[in-house]
Amino acid sequence: MSNSNTCGSTPNHDHNSKSSPPSFITKPTKKLIPASHGYAAALKAGTSFRLIDLYGQQVIDMSAFVLPFPDNQIASAEHFSPQYTLFSTKGQPISVGETLRSNMNRSVLKLTHDTVKTHDMTFMSCFPGLYEDLGFKPSEHRSCAENMVEAFGPWGMKYLSQVKGPFNVFQNTPNWSLKPLGTSRAGDWCQFEVMVDCVVGWSCCPFDVEGFNGGKVTDVMVLLGLDKDENRSSEALMEQCDDSRGVPSEGCRHETGQVDEGDEEKKRLGPGSGRSEKMLGMFSASSDQQQLSFRSENQVELCARCVSTKGYHFVSRIDLNDCLINNWGSLEWAKGGNFAASARNIELVDGGKRLQASLGDGMGGFHDCTITLDERITNEDGRLVFLEDRGTLEL
Ligand SMILES: [Zn+2]
Repeated sequence: MSNSNTCGSTPNHDHNSKSSPPSFITKPTKKLIPASHGYAAALKAGTSFRLIDLYGQQVIDMSAFVLPFPDNQIASAEHFSPQYTLFSTKGQPISVGETLRSNMNRSVLKLTHDTVKTHDMTFMSCFPGLYEDLGFKPSEHRSCAENMVEAFGPWGMKYLSQVKGPFNVFQNTPNWSLKPLGTSRAGDWCQFEVMVDCVVGWSCCPFDVEGFNGGKVTDVMVLLGLDKDENRSSEALMEQCDDSRGVPSEGCRHETGQVDEGDEEKKRLGPGSGRSEKMLGMFSASSDQQQLSFRSENQVELCARCVSTKGYHFVSRIDLNDCLINNWGSLEWAKGGNFAASARNIELVDGGKRLQASLGDGMGGFHDCTITLDERITNEDGRLVFLEDRGTLEL
């Protein structure tokens, strides 16, 4: 992952202007925006998109440019304007049924659903200088402004000076307060109808200082190409959307925003060959604060804060000693496996997604071994559950 300030004042997106930008997304599609990163998509008038805060308290900066651009230049494009929008609402927060206006006073996006009802139109996107003032080196911290340049790069954006004032989804900063007042909870969402063909960009705000964004930046989801009257649950939609492989994709919850591959961790799912080796449990996609607690010598509990289907957080525990077995020095899934009796140095690694232990091989030796907990541990409505004997399920 490049964490460098690659989109500052030097033109480095020349190649983008020569290739054609991505085409319109017209069918239901889901896109996970990794923590601290951005994404943009061309959207057709008459479709809708939904923004989902997967873990809670995460701000998403949003910007929009009307298509087609005059002279094919994003620099001359009509764009979303917080000031025009505030003029249309007489300075009030935008409500369902109202529209985000452009700097030509045209309705660009209409807010059609909103489970939070708190957003911001007064603050600019966070920018490199802001982080420098806070003591970060330019290459040390991503920013929404840079994310926007990256995201709109395929449409010709090159410079930080081209970034426009955003609509800050889920940002709670009334009267210029800059206290951490995040209001969105896991599962909260808002939906916009696209009123005119445009390219819309989002930045999962990397501002993790002083408790903002819950003090920890997390991934968000955007569902694109939806019917304008779409009102089904996000869970139902995500299953229907293209690229759907469970919700959300593997490895999504990295603070760095790095999306790792499940492939490397394709591991044993118990005896038998040729079966799916996908992550069946995926508890880590909808939980955080994973840790181990050792209640006794032989009780190793995995604790995590899990999100329920209604978006509430519950701390749940599961006894891993009841789920794993030491099979002659190898860690495998088995109900009542009692692995801890012949293991030492048991710990969580990889941000709480894998268990590592040194296992006795029955001949006096010990072998380090890890297993990916997402394989068989799932979050069932806020509760950690062991998927027992599910090796034959296909995703
Ligand atoms: Zn930001």
